[in-house]
Amino acid sequence: MTMVRTEHKTCCVCGETIPVSVCLSYSQFGKTGPTLDGWHSGVPYGCMVEFCRHCGYASHDIAESPVQPGVMNTKPYRDILKQRWIDDSCKAYLCVAQFKAADGDFKGAFWASIRAAWICDNDGYWQGAEDYRTKALEMMRRSHEKGGIVSDTSVRDGLLQADLLRRTGSFQQAKDAVMRTLKCNPDAELMRLLRFEQRLIEQVDKAAHWAKEA
Ligand SMILES: [Zn+2]
Repeated sequence: MTMVRTEHKTCCVCGETIPVSVCLSYSQFGKTGPTLDGWHSGVPYGCMVEFCRHCGYASHDIAESPVQPGVMNTKPYRDILKQRWIDDSCKAYLCVAQFKAADGDFKGAFWASIRAAWICDNDGYWQGAEDYRTKALEMMRRSHEKGGIVSDTSVRDGLLQADLLRRTGSFQQAKDAVMRTLKCNPDAELMRLLRFEQRLIEQVDKAAHWAKEA
């Protein structure tokens, strides 16, 4: 059971006191998960980011100052704030991704983008889900360029990349990502997941799938 409490915090950018949701506990008991791209049902992702509606500052803790406050004045950041049809927590993750990318933390920007996509999945906003997966792929690419990875292993990154490409309908690129990753000596579990991903790609399936289906 998810228990959420509302607390009040002062935004360090504009000084306004705003309500934030604090998750006291949650349980994944009896739930299915994760999906191939890492989403766990029952996890209150919306409580893991805070958003000030007064000034548009978003952070995992809005009482903490941004390392680069100038990011808030950039066009991409202002454009996110203008998107009134998306959920505040989705908007907040997209803004957090901007801060993280500016800090060179492409792994952090990757996960913030993918969480924005998951919120869109839940809200049935398919265009957003696709756009923010594309954004996540871009952040993964930038992380790889720096010699980093976004998950625990490069093989797991390959699976994530293939799944994101499949979910955005880029089936040929998804297939190439699977083929590349199969050559990197995946362990038995990842081999099973990659073969499953390959079958989904062959079936031109863009839907979310559980890892346990593999
Ligand atoms: Zn503020």
